[in-house]
Amino acid sequence: MGKSGQIAYLNGDFIPIEKAQISPQDRGFLFGDGVYEVIPVYSKRLFTFEPHLKRLKNSLAATGIMNPLDDDGWRKLLQKLVDMHPWPDQFIYLQVTRGVQMQRDHLPADNLTPTLYAYTNELKPVSDDIQIHGIKAVTLDDLRWQHCDIKAITLLPNILMKMTAKQQGADDAILIDRDGFVTEGTSNNVFIVRDGQLQTPPQSTALLSGITRQVILELAEQHNMPFSETPLTLPDLQAADEIWLTSSTKYALPVTQLNGQPVGNGQPGQAAKNATTL
Ligand code: PMP
Repeated sequence: MGKSGQIAYLNGDFIPIEKAQISPQDRGFLFGDGVYEVIPVYSKRLFTFEPHLKRLKNSLAATGIMNPLDDDGWRKLLQKLVDMHPWPDQFIYLQVTRGVQMQRDHLPADNLTPTLYAYTNELKPVSDDIQIHGIKAVTLDDLRWQHCDIKAITLLPNILMKMTAKQQGADDAILIDRDGFVTEGTSNNVFIVRDGQLQTPPQSTALLSGITRQVILELAEQHNMPFSETPLTLPDLQAADEIWLTSSTKYALPVTQLNGQPVGNGQPGQAAKNATTL
């Protein structure tokens, strides 16, 4: 084991993460030509593995990158990686790029061997400070392309928007497309609670179909909380009693300040607390 004790998987080998190396001619490095997933693990068990695998296969099919493993191969590989680490709760990062190509060319060569990289880390609970006070968000123009349903490693716009949010004194950004509709956060989906109803933008190519988003919609249904998948605008955010940003590693983060104004009463709402304890 290396200094961090973390073992990574790279193209067939389990190795100390510090020793993992790829070619700079990898198309992931040169072009961001790859896709990824982040899968949460609780008590050493992969959580929502099937929908994550389905989304990965969709991303691979949409980009024409070869799927290097069958379903059982994926499950065994990821469970082995989890079992090599001491933490009960973890998050797995996995990435598949189109592979190494010696001549840089936008057009991929035929029959490239995909590069498969995965590692796991401890999944820590969201800090007490955030649970008590929530986070600050600003709204920003969504700078991205027309295939945000693909979980591509090419995240430069997301990074720039997150940096802008920080420069504006916020923790994250809620993105608004050219037609004035809320898409998602820089690395999460957006929910609002208004008059006891949970609302989130409908699935489309403008946003990632979050697995946490789906889990929350299923929980709402099971617990008879009214919900709808409906287009949202800035006035809807401003009129919300609660705003949440949801993702596999942070679950549902309460946004208590939007563009410098309090959301609802400025405290994390009851619905968020209920959702986090379900
Ligand atoms: N949207 C974007 C842009 C994301 O990066 C993520 C997190 N990967 C999500 C939404 C939330 O997806 P999930 O609930 O599957 O983590």
